[in-house]
Amino acid sequence: MGCGGAGFPASVKLSGHVDTLIVNAAECEPLIHKDKELLAGRPDEFFSGLAEAMKRVAARRGIIALKKKYADLIAAVAKRCPAEVTVFALDDVYPAGDEFVLVYEVLGRIIGPGGLPKDVDAVVQNVETLINIGRGRPVTRKTLTVAGLVHKPLTLEVPIGTPFKDVIAAAGGAVDPDSGVLVGGAMMGRLTNDLSEPVTKTTAGLIVLSKDHPLIRRYDRSPQAVRRIARAACDQCTFCTELCPRYLLNHPVEPHRVMRSFGLGISVDGAARYARYCSGCRLCSLGTCPEGLDPSEICGIIKKGADKGGSSQGVSPVPKPHPLRFARRMPMSRLVRKLGLEGLDDHAPLRDVRVTPRRVLIPLRQHAGVAAEPVVRVGQSVKEGDCIGDIPKGKLGAPVHASIDGRVVSVADAVGIEAA
Ligand code: SF4
Ligand code: SF4
Repeated sequence: MGCGGAGFPASVKLSGHVDTLIVNAAECEPLIHKDKELLAGRPDEFFSGLAEAMKRVAARRGIIALKKKYADLIAAVAKRCPAEVTVFALDDVYPAGDEFVLVYEVLGRIIGPGGLPKDVDAVVQNVETLINIGRGRPVTRKTLTVAGLVHKPLTLEVPIGTPFKDVIAAAGGAVDPDSGVLVGGAMMGRLTNDLSEPVTKTTAGLIVLSKDHPLIRRYDRSPQAVRRIARAACDQCTFCTELCPRYLLNHPVEPHRVMRSFGLGISVDGAARYARYCSGCRLCSLGTCPEGLDPSEICGIIKKGADKGGSSQGVSPVPKPHPLRFARRMPMSRLVRKLGLEGLDDHAPLRDVRVTPRRVLIPLRQHAGVAAEPVVRVGQSVKEGDCIGDIPKGKLGAPVHASIDGRVVSVADAVGIEAA
């Protein structure tokens, strides 16, 4: 694989032929608006990338899946759609953007446990990937939303490798100096207190909250505390399972059973069959469990153990969802209340703010697959778009490119570049 193109996952996803390409603009992380803003603000690049992607997979039709609540945007996008592309209006539920959920909502087809959209003749691409394809040049910039307790929530594009602190400063800075930052979102993100961390190709957003916000305290729990509480407090009410989006697609995911096995100290194998196909959406942990437990985390622990040699459930197609699936979907409004995020400014318009970091740090591994191997040395001058890390022949991964003009100042797991 060379240094061109948008990156490994897109190229692999677009390597086969399918009937339908679905654009995932569901954006179900609270407060994050990147996809919607990009669709509204970069339509030319988006539609050019969509046409190219549909050509590559020989798709007969394209479907842009957007939340119903964005009626104006739906109308604007629909006006631009060529004949073979339509817009699908999604209900405002979580996790509408999970590929398995999305494909079922849009096409009424259930991908089997451990399967892929291509199993049901579809491929799913996100808005930004299509824009990158439309641009037809190496990916050097990332669009993300900065929201929560910042002075000016916004969506902006920055060079990959930009430190979080520069991005938060572009949003007017944190309102509370004693803040924590959720990287990637409130539901599927992670907590960091290190604002020198760099933006990568997968950083969808930064949610800034006071350190005493319940969500930050929740993410701050130690793994030992999560395990201890899980063992002590699960009353087997089964809510986590009854509302689990994968269980509702009739996948073998039953977190209450995982919790029971974990609580009783039963072997990893005993619980793995109910955890293996958990998506990690965290709905059970942050939206459902009345005891404030973390079945998602426990499923993750069990999955990791099982991957190291436990048994695996066979993959089989699923003909029908749970009969109560429709009624049991989690409305976003309820989830936002549960997360304690109501009342925060839920607009983050795309702004052409120019962020010019003095130094960027570009990780050599930003995707699934192997890390890129550096092809530059300290002291070398680079231009934006130059290849700085490539994938060994025959391996899966994504090449990495310089995101600014400058001089290489460090090469390890990441390449540091100082601006020219
Ligand atoms: S919802 Fe919470 S208390 Fe109920 S079974 Fe699941 S983990 Fe246990
Ligand atoms: S994180 Fe919880 S709700 Fe989400 S798929 Fe896994 S078990 Fe189900």
